[in-house]
Formats: sequence, C-alpha cells, structure tokens
Amino acid sequence: MKIAVIGFGAAAIGLLERMKDTEHEIHVFEKSPDIYSSSISGIRADGKLFVSSEMGGDIFIDPILQRKLVDFYINFTERKHVETGKSFSSQTYYRQFYEKGFMPISSEFYHIGTDQLKEVLFNIYAMFGKSSNIHFHFDAEIKSIESNNGGIVINDSDYFDMAVVAVGRSGHKLINKLIGENPTLVQNNTKVDLGIRYEVPNHIVEELNKEMYEFKVKYKSRTGYMVRTFCNNPSGFVVTENYGDFTTVNGHAKMREKSTNTNFAILASLVLTEPFKDPIGYGSYIAKLSNLLAGEGKVILQTYSHFKESKRTKNLYRVLPTLEHDKYILGDVNLAFPRRIIESIIDFVENLDTVIPGIANNDNLVYAPEIKFYSNRLNNITNPKLKFIGDCSGATRSIIYATAHGYLMGEAILNNHFSNTSL
Ligand SMILES: Cc1cc2nc3c(=O)[nH]c(=O)nc-3n(C[C@H](O)[C@H](O)[C@H](O)COP(=O)(O)OP(=O)(O)OC[C@H]3O[C@@H](n4cnc5c(N)ncnc54)[C@H](O)[C@@H]3O)c2cc1C
Repeated sequence: MKIAVIGFGAAAIGLLERMKDTEHEIHVFEKSPDIYSSSISGIRADGKLFVSSEMGGDIFIDPILQRKLVDFYINFTERKHVETGKSFSSQTYYRQFYEKGFMPISSEFYHIGTDQLKEVLFNIYAMFGKSSNIHFHFDAEIKSIESNNGGIVINDSDYFDMAVVAVGRSGHKLINKLIGENPTLVQNNTKVDLGIRYEVPNHIVEELNKEMYEFKVKYKSRTGYMVRTFCNNPSGFVVTENYGDFTTVNGHAKMREKSTNTNFAILASLVLTEPFKDPIGYGSYIAKLSNLLAGEGKVILQTYSHFKESKRTKNLYRVLPTLEHDKYILGDVNLAFPRRIIESIIDFVENLDTVIPGIANNDNLVYAPEIKFYSNRLNNITNPKLKFIGDCSGATRSIIYATAHGYLMGEAILNNHFSNTSL
C-alpha cells in the first residue's frame, strides 16, 4: 500500500518503527521546514518518559510495550544515560499521602531532558532515513484530506491507499476542518484542566524529589473538583508557552543546567456538561483574560499568601522566579480565575502542607494560567482508510502512549485489522 503519514512526532515514530523495512511505501508529510526546526514534534521539551497504567492516555497500553518504547528512545541518547525513578514505590510515602486524602499515582519514569531531546529526535530521523520504504517531505503542511475512489487524496493532489493522521495538538486546524466536514468523527469532548504552576525552593521537596523525582497525586477537593499535580521539575525552570492567540505557563528541567527551585503544575479538572460543549473555548477565554491583565505574551506571578488573600503582589521575598523577567507581571490571579478553581487549589496546597511542611509558605510562587486541553476523542472506525494516532486522536497525552498508539496502529495495518476497536 501507498500510505501517507501526516506529521512527524511521537505517534508517527511508533508507526514508522513498526512499519519500516516492509513492502508498504510510506510518505511522511511534516509542516516544519526541517528536522532541526523548533516547531517539529512534541518531543522537544523535557522528555520525561513514563511507564504507567494510570496516566498518559485513555487506551490500554501493555507495560511491556511501554518499557520497550522507553528503551527505544534511550538507545538514541548519546551515552544511553537518563535520570530515572519510580513514584510511590515506598510504602511510607504512599501511606502518608493516602492518610491525608490524596490518591498517589504510580509510575516509572525516565528523564531524557530538554537539551538531549534534539539529538534523540535527529538520530531517530536519521535511522528511518535509511529505510528504503520511508520518504520524508518537510515544509509540507497538509490542509485537506478527502476520501476518493476507495483511497485518500491529500491537499487536492496526491492519491494514497490510506492516510494516518499524526498531527498532535498543533495540528488542530486540520483536525477541526475534518471534524467540520464529518462531525460523526467526534466521540466525545467535555474536559479541560485549569490551574497554576507552583514554584518552591528545592529544599522543601528535596526528600520527595530524591525518592521519586516525579510525584503525582490526585485529590478530591472540598469544592468537588479533582485536583492533581502534573509535570514536577526538580531544579527546573518555568517557561511560557505560546498558543498563538494566548500564552500559558509551563515548566521543564534540563539534564545539565540546574536551578535552585522545583516547579510543578496544580490543575483542577473541569468536566462540562450539556448544553455546554466547548471546554477549549472556556479554557482559552480564561487564558486570554489572564494575558489581558499581565500584558500580551505574559503570565501572572503572585506569592502564595497573596493568591490566598486575593491581593496583588508587589514584591517577592525569599523565592525568586526562574521564569525570565520580561515574561511575567506581578499581579492577582483572582481577577482572572473562577472562585471555585482558586478554592480548589488553595484546599489542595493547604492539605499538601500537612504532608510536605513548607509547601504552603507565604512566599512560594504561583504562576497562571496553566491549562491542559484535551483533544476531541476521534472515532477510528468510521473510515478504514483514514486513521488518527497520538494526541490528535484524543486517545493519548504522552510521548510513550502516543508512540505506542502509532506502533499498534502500524501492527493493525500490517495484520489488516483496520477495524480494531481498541485503537
Ligand atoms: C511543552 C510540552 C512538554 C511536554 N513534555 C512531555 C514530557 O515530558 N513527557 C511526555 O510524555 N509528554 C510530554 N508532552 C506531551 C507530548 O509531547 C505529546 O503527548 C506527544 O508528543 C504527542 O505525540 P504526537 O505524535 O501525537 O504529536 P506531536 O509529537 O506533537 O507531533 C505532531 C507533528 O505533526 C506536525 N503537524 C501538525 N499539523 C500538521 C499538518 N497539518 N501537516 C503536516 N504536519 C503537521 C507538527 O509539526 C508535529 O511535528 C509535552 C508537551 C508539551 C507541549
């Protein structure tokens, strides 16, 4: 078969790994200008690879396959060396958190680091380049995909026997167009996670960082919202993330350069119900409102005590931000966020302080907005010649799950199991 793969990110990598050196002629179309481009692939920032059955996506991925794919990535690092750990392998920590109402999330993780990721992506690309059945086309944004004569036509010109769409979240324009043309593609869409990035001095979470590097817990707050930690970065850096029409906050850690602070996200999960069905619109408006207060392209920074008391922060005390000075404004997050979200976060931090003393210190830092959007869950059965893999399908949210989704789709194609419902 002649197959078009749209996008070269984690999901495409899984698919290509399974389908390299087979009789299928595979053409990969990537909108970024080349492999070195900063916009290519989600495998750019941080590169924490998780093995977990409790997070990473909404499909079942066998932990054996997850580990195999972790090894696949590590093999492309220079010294085959990464930071690694396991969350909540210690019963002591598990019990301490559990006792205070937290739900500890178990996972193994392997941290490649932002600085090493570029080499990894390039090495993978170079390896696929040696397969005679794989052809790369850069600077090739796909704007239309249509069914035609039992096959698929892309960009109104090239005919393929089938197309696998792997455009991640940055491919939302193409996905929205396809959904607009065929609304039955959408299975569901109701969730958005909204919250803050929290930054504390390393010594407050030193023991925890040493024990598990990435501590993940969920907590049912007294508002009824589920609140969770996400993306813990020991000795890391806070950064902004530009979505085009708004800016949010994020965090990462490097393998070589280290800071004296740890940052992590605290997110409240909103599940919106009928008749409202635009969680992305809801989250975007809150982000835009925050940017309106902070100034274009900037986020709000506030001390934790002022966040609690709804006062504008004018000065910082002992904890200094790792986010670059021109990317934030000292302000009040309460002017942008709904009260129920703020209360959920405060309840979470105060309760966390009973397990980790110092986490609710007055001068710890709160950055906003931090938002995690969930893509529409797409139906992969509607059209046997058009498949969606990775984050754009709504089934995955991590490098390993997206890679595994691509890998399993490759397997289904090789075995002619086009109607595999679990994908
Ligand atoms: C800042 C940040 C940090 C993250 N850190 C981690 C982490 O540490 N660990 C983890 O597990 N996950 C992390 N993630 C999530 C992870 O990156 C994604 O889950 C994963 O990359 C999804 O893989 P994908 O192949 O679906 O999409 P992507 O990896 O995003 O790849 C999609 C590709 O498609 C291309 N594309 C888009 N539209 C088109 C088009 N129309 N035509 C052609 N090409 C197109 C894009 O340029 C891109 O190269 C992070 C995400 C972000 C944003």
